[in-house]
Amino acid sequence: MNTNKVKPFSCPNCGKKLPFKYAFNANTSSRFTCKNCGTICKLAKPLDIAPSVIFGFLSVAIPGRLVTDYFDSIELGLLTGALSLPFAVLIVWIYAYSTLEFTRD
Ligand SMILES: [Zn+2]
Repeated sequence: MNTNKVKPFSCPNCGKKLPFKYAFNANTSSRFTCKNCGTICKLAKPLDIAPSVIFGFLSVAIPGRLVTDYFDSIELGLLTGALSLPFAVLIVWIYAYSTLEFTRD
């Protein structure tokens, strides 16, 4: 039994940060191998995806809607929404990276 406090997105065995790319496909059935010590890691608790989805939707829909109303142009609104999407996705990934905890499989 490992009683050490687990840091977010770190190997439960050696404490080394896991690669950021793991956040891209992290889910409860995923298994990740620590490059440092070879420990098989899995998510400590199910990923709570709802806040990320809501945030992602709002951060695309709100700017898109505001621009649509302000410029009276649905095309400009759609463009703004599309431009907001990468930022929304990035923030969701950073959220996942800073909150997800791993445990030994
Ligand atoms: Zn490790």
